[in-house]
Amino acid sequence: MSTTQTTLARETKLRAAESATTLDPATWDRILQTVRSAHPGLNRLWFDQLAPRSFSNGVIQIATLTPAQLSFCQSQCQQPFTEAAQAATGRLVAVSFLCDNLPTGGVFNEGDQPHPLNPDYMFEHFVTGPCNRLPQAACVAVAEQPGKAYNPLFIHGGVGLGKTHLLQAVCQKVLERQRNARILYLTCDSFINQFMNAIENNEMSQFRHRYRHVDVLVIDDIHFLAKRDRTQEEFFHTFNTLYQNHKQIILSADCPPGEIPELEERLVSRFNWGLVARIDKPCYETRVAILQKKARIRQLVLPDDVICYVAQKIESNTRELEGAITKLQGMGMLNGGKIDLELAKAALGETEAPEQQRITIQQIFDVVTKYYNVRPSDLQGKKRHKSTTFPRQVCMFLARRYTRYSLEELGGYFGGRDHTTVMHGIRSIEKDIRVDREVQNQVAQLEIQLSGR
Ligand code: ADP
Ligand code: MG
Repeated sequence: MSTTQTTLARETKLRAAESATTLDPATWDRILQTVRSAHPGLNRLWFDQLAPRSFSNGVIQIATLTPAQLSFCQSQCQQPFTEAAQAATGRLVAVSFLCDNLPTGGVFNEGDQPHPLNPDYMFEHFVTGPCNRLPQAACVAVAEQPGKAYNPLFIHGGVGLGKTHLLQAVCQKVLERQRNARILYLTCDSFINQFMNAIENNEMSQFRHRYRHVDVLVIDDIHFLAKRDRTQEEFFHTFNTLYQNHKQIILSADCPPGEIPELEERLVSRFNWGLVARIDKPCYETRVAILQKKARIRQLVLPDDVICYVAQKIESNTRELEGAITKLQGMGMLNGGKIDLELAKAALGETEAPEQQRITIQQIFDVVTKYYNVRPSDLQGKKRHKSTTFPRQVCMFLARRYTRYSLEELGGYFGGRDHTTVMHGIRSIEKDIRVDREVQNQVAQLEIQLSGR
């Protein structure tokens, strides 16, 4: 570079520095306050860790502390922060998120895209009790010494007990300690799909390369390998290669290895080589602690009697506890922000309804079709337009919550869909409820209609 060029470059930099101002702390406080009160479902305690970096050319740059926070903010907070920033500054500004701690390795999904981990799924947010102490400790040990502590690590337990939470916590911890670690995190379904695609497109060597050159391979819900003979065969070789190279393998399932139906014996035995740890249902004290922690993360104030009531009422699993919190939050908003025991009883009362008063799937279909003005055949048909998929998914979500049908049976009610499709629909609404106040309200209203039918 010539001297003139260097001078020019320096001047450009100087000018940029001049025009970039910092946002004054009071404005930042107002923005944060606005987002928090306008989007309680989105609000997280860790928003405190966000820091405005610069304010130039109408763009406010906001730094996140971790990559998981970054992906959460980029996918869900853009609009709320932009609106709040415009309100606080009275100008047509935009926000943009960044993160200085981006890993050079990273957590990837099957398509080699960075995998969006849930920033809530950290060890710090995981409550331990007699039900999960061993699996939690094993996960911490593995995160500290991948490939050395227990290999493979196999976590099993019923739905909603924290398997995915723990698996993602390991990924986040490994990356925190080792920025260049290469981690592949995916569900078993994705693994199966990738494998089928690779065969179809003649891309087996790329497929093998991708799965056999990682430091940590994490496969969630491995029980979906049941009856998948060819995928099992392929996974067997993947497993051996990684294991021989002392790479960490972490698996989760809804049952121990020996109980996965039609799983090859050689896989069963390998899954038992390392540590197999079970997560049980949380006991009362743990449920109380989980509710307290979840409320804290969302900065939601729940009185003690409400916490005790919910913990007594909901015994099945932690996802239900979380659902109860979401519901309380939603109904609290309709109630002017007040959450007390009476509201909690109204919100959760129906779970105690005697058998004959149970909500039927027909009633759920009725309420949903009327509310969204769609026909039952739309919910059962194959149309993939958002105007039908969304009500269909809401209907799946409510049916799962209020009836006792299995995912397979529900698939039948929705036009012979696969249980994974139903699962996907339910997850999608669960996510919407967490981040979208409008959806939260709609579901709360439908639930009120159902309980008052
Ligand atoms: P699984 O994968 O076993 O079905 P998840 O990991 O998805 O269950 O957990 C369901 C929900 O319950 C998640 O929101 C998770 O954060 C929460 N959860 C489960 N166990 C705990 C725990 N011990 N402490 C805090 N949250 C938990
Ligand atoms: Mg899971």
